[in-house]
Amino acid sequence: MKYHLRKVDELGRVVLPLELRMELNLQAGDCVTMRCENGRIWLEKNRATCWLCGSPENLVELENGASVCMSCAEKILQQAAQTDEQK
Ligand SMILES: [Zn+2]
Repeated sequence: MKYHLRKVDELGRVVLPLELRMELNLQAGDCVTMRCENGRIWLEKNRATCWLCGSPENLVELENGASVCMSCAEKILQQAAQTDEQK
């Protein structure tokens, strides 16, 4: 495994090495998902995420092509039910 050393600039940006971008076919304008776990930052290409919280797990795709996770969908349904009960 090859390691790439890069400096973080004053705005928090890091340039992804060309070799890695080519390996993932990562183009300018592509979206990436990032998360921090056990002191490491994981970065994945073009993974669908929840429109509300950004989670990539347990997604349901909506008619408009956006996705929400089951946790957010359940919160919306609970709030809708509470709002309905108050009427
Ligand atoms: Zn969510």
